[in-house]
Amino acid sequence: MSLWGKDLDRKSLSSLKGKKCVDTLIIGGGIAGMTALYYLKEYPDICLVDASLVGEGVTKNTTGKLTFLQNTIYSDLEKNIDYDTAVSYFKSQKVAIELAKEIIEKEKIDSHLEKVESFVFTNKESEIKKIQQESDFLKKQGIEVKQGSLPLKVPYLSAISVSDTYVFHPILYINHLKKMLQDKIYEHTKITKIKRKNGKYICYGKNLEITATKVIVACHYPFFFFPFCLPLKSHIEKSYIVARKVEKNPKVSAINVTNPSISVRFYEDESGVYEICLSSSHKTSKNQDDYKNFKNVKRIFTIKEEDIVSIWSNVDIITDDKLPYIGFIKKNLYIATGFNTWGMTNGILSGFLLSRAIRGEKMPYQDLFLIKRSNIYQVKNFFPNLIGSAISFIGSKKRNKEWYKENLQFTKKNGKSIAIYNDKNGKKHIVYTTCPHMGCSLLFNEKEKTWDCPCHSSRYTIDGECIKGPSTKDITYRE
Ligand SMILES: Cc1cc2nc3c(=O)[nH]c(=O)nc-3n(C[C@H](O)[C@H](O)[C@H](O)COP(=O)(O)OP(=O)(O)OC[C@H]3O[C@@H](n4cnc5c(N)ncnc54)[C@H](O)[C@@H]3O)c2cc1C
Repeated sequence: MSLWGKDLDRKSLSSLKGKKCVDTLIIGGGIAGMTALYYLKEYPDICLVDASLVGEGVTKNTTGKLTFLQNTIYSDLEKNIDYDTAVSYFKSQKVAIELAKEIIEKEKIDSHLEKVESFVFTNKESEIKKIQQESDFLKKQGIEVKQGSLPLKVPYLSAISVSDTYVFHPILYINHLKKMLQDKIYEHTKITKIKRKNGKYICYGKNLEITATKVIVACHYPFFFFPFCLPLKSHIEKSYIVARKVEKNPKVSAINVTNPSISVRFYEDESGVYEICLSSSHKTSKNQDDYKNFKNVKRIFTIKEEDIVSIWSNVDIITDDKLPYIGFIKKNLYIATGFNTWGMTNGILSGFLLSRAIRGEKMPYQDLFLIKRSNIYQVKNFFPNLIGSAISFIGSKKRNKEWYKENLQFTKKNGKSIAIYNDKNGKKHIVYTTCPHMGCSLLFNEKEKTWDCPCHSSRYTIDGECIKGPSTKDITYRE
């Protein structure tokens, strides 16, 4: 469980059954959906549904940095798209941090918001120039950039830092909003299909039909393929995180430029100071051995087993041009996704932007986050995305067999592939090993005891319950 997971408000709100009509429906209560609901709290006739508990998705497993220093995103955008796009994205991230501060201060949310110095660093000669370009870009925007000396025990050749960036406890933020807005939230209410009928959207779930004029899809990875086609313009990245107890809080956060990824932040509460160490990020079509990846994190940060407090992994959607998708897919159907591992800022920003769109106001940054944009990167990455999915699609069973020889058995029942996991108490857990979303072979994640889809990030418990979309179906084997 993540460091934040233990603080999640697990007292479930009621679920929704039968037929309901609303003006606006928000699907998904992560940082994006909950912030959208917050900004629309006075809007009449609105509700939010979540398949699980709000906050229990990707947001529970984040590292919780609120920073505009995001690797070398601005110099990359300037090089790959143009200068104006880089400036616009930079401004949007500054706005997002202000919005987060404003909500936390106004609502007196005790989410341990802490101002820190943010670093980006490299230990590779070849990346020093990139860091310099990022520094030049930021200076041009009036940001004071320090040529940094990194106060962490990781090797580096060059580092820059900026101030006015923050870290927080994302789940305390979500818990507070849940309490505040509880009469508009339904938990354990999964939407599995959306249809447009007579100018309205009918959203279906199990014994459930919600009719809404406007819908915000904020469920991380949309459960529908058309008309958005996200698998063709993005891939999934997975990272591994270990939190350990330390003596001192240096009040910094840091990230390096590229692989092997290294990201660090600290968290402090009455129980002590924790260092949150992230590494081994990879495309889910590659480096799939979770056991090895967790081991790498411990090696890179020289973490002793006895100092570990929590250990977890997380996935996010990486779009081809590294910009989120926030806006409308069709008339009155909105989406916020593709946050490229910067969903604290972009999730809060999308809540704000989509609340304006719902009220019929002009949405700032509309062109930057446009859903229907197409650019050279989508064309360039179209085949790599397809090939990545194909590798994941066909290869996982072989890899499962290589890694988990002892406690996993594979067989077929009625022509369908199943796996039997024998736990240490001798109990058998039987699941189908094909993801119901698009048919990829699932990978077993022994550390977290889940079945994970390497194509589009769906996740299932050891007994086959679907705990993360885009899949909406379980994989539990029944005789
Ligand atoms: C390792 C890692 C570290 C990160 N660290 C940072 C960081 O430091 N700073 C930062 O800015 N970003 C960070 N991110 C990114 C950030 O965590 C995510 O982008 C963000 O949490 C996504 O929020 P969300 O609201 O889109 O999705 P989620 O939090 O996943 O919320 C979606 C919700 O929708 C619900 N749902 C799903 N399907 C359905 C359905 N069919 N019906 C109803 N409900 C549904 C889920 O139950 C879930 O609660 C990190 C990402 C990773 C992978």
